[in-house]
Amino acid sequence: MRHRIAVVGGGPAGLTFARVLHRHGHPVTVLERDPGPDARPPGGTLDLHEKLGQLALGKAGLLAEFQALARPEGQAMRILDPDGTVLRHWLPGPDDLANPEIDRGQLRDLLLGRDRDSEHDPGPLDVRWGRGVTRVVPGTRDGVLVEFEDGRQETYDLVVGADGAWSRVRPALTPVAPHYTGVTSIETSLDDVDTRHPDLARLIGDGSVAVYGANRSLVAQRNSGGHVKVYSKFRAPLDWHTDLGPDLADADPEAVRSSLLALFDGWSAPVLDLLRRGTTFAHRPFYVLPVSHTWTHVPGVTLLGDAAHLMPPLGVGANLAMLDGAELAESIATAPATGDLDETVRAFEERMWARSGKWAEITTAGLERLVSPDPAEAIAVFDEVQP
Ligand SMILES: Cc1cc2nc3c(=O)[nH]c(=O)nc-3n(C[C@H](O)[C@H](O)[C@H](O)COP(=O)(O)OP(=O)(O)OC[C@H]3O[C@@H](n4cnc5c(N)ncnc54)[C@H](O)[C@@H]3O)c2cc1C
Repeated sequence: MRHRIAVVGGGPAGLTFARVLHRHGHPVTVLERDPGPDARPPGGTLDLHEKLGQLALGKAGLLAEFQALARPEGQAMRILDPDGTVLRHWLPGPDDLANPEIDRGQLRDLLLGRDRDSEHDPGPLDVRWGRGVTRVVPGTRDGVLVEFEDGRQETYDLVVGADGAWSRVRPALTPVAPHYTGVTSIETSLDDVDTRHPDLARLIGDGSVAVYGANRSLVAQRNSGGHVKVYSKFRAPLDWHTDLGPDLADADPEAVRSSLLALFDGWSAPVLDLLRRGTTFAHRPFYVLPVSHTWTHVPGVTLLGDAAHLMPPLGVGANLAMLDGAELAESIATAPATGDLDETVRAFEERMWARSGKWAEITTAGLERLVSPDPAEAIAVFDEVQP
């Protein structure tokens, strides 16, 4: 008999998990809070690493489709001094597929199987939109109980929490919650950069441009279709913006812009134009779970991705989330029919913790150096990893 499996959350972790099980012909239900796939903007671009996100897409049978959509040229990176001097400039080689970029929306559609029409395709995933989960209760007579925002309840043999930083599944396993890193970020964006802001398009190039100062940085990154996301990052207490309002989402964009320009006072005009020309501003403080976060195994429930190991956003979170999803799904799908599902999950958790613990250490140390009193530290981080 097939196990009744649900994954809570249709982000990179949940959809990769579901897609790999689906590819193996194993039924799985995705329970997603958003009312539909296009309910909110999907977010910025992601670089998928050969040995992480791309490995996961291979297990999902989607590597060729990814390569057709991905932007290898997006690996280009330039570092400027706050006065505008170019300090570093890396360009990818013609066959460099180590970390190509893909828009999150494109990745989501790829994993969902939207618009795909192939005789080899096993069809769309079973995604239940608008199914926000409030609580998961393991160990009931019928299995793991899932409670929804609308009061409904369902039971499954295995519930996988892939519901991100503020997981509602995690409390079934551990009382640990994310804590603030001391670094926050304000995100803005530019549209049609090549036609409307050709000077900034040149500054950004095909990939990203980054500028580092004392305890602050500005990064602009090209997405597809001339869209650019601009991230300002700085050290600040969580309530740094109370003069602008208790919630920055409701604050006057002009007031947010002014306070950002004051924070980056003295930086060169072309760099500050990245902030001057942005239209809306979103506040994203960086929260993390403790490094090497684990829990005592509970039969019938586990976590993947940010729900399991939220770490500073230094370019691996989605990659790890996807590999978690692909590996757990593959382990379940290839286990002997007489095997114990719970032992499969327990063995997976040990593997996931070993990998995520290592990356949590790297990204925690990385954040300290990238937003540090000495900007030379930030540049050294890139010198150490760039070929
Ligand atoms: C600014 C920034 C830039 C980043 N850049 C990169 C990058 O370049 N490369 C990289 O690898 N990573 C990057 N990351 C990290 C990456 O975004 C996350 O690690 C990744 O999205 C985690 O995937 P996930 O599936 O675990 O969780 P999420 O992406 O958070 O997905 C969770 C899903 O669960 C749903 N959900 C939430 N709660 C519920 C509920 N109660 N019931 C049902 N559904 C629910 C949500 O709607 C969502 O669809 C970046 C992060 C930030 C903030």
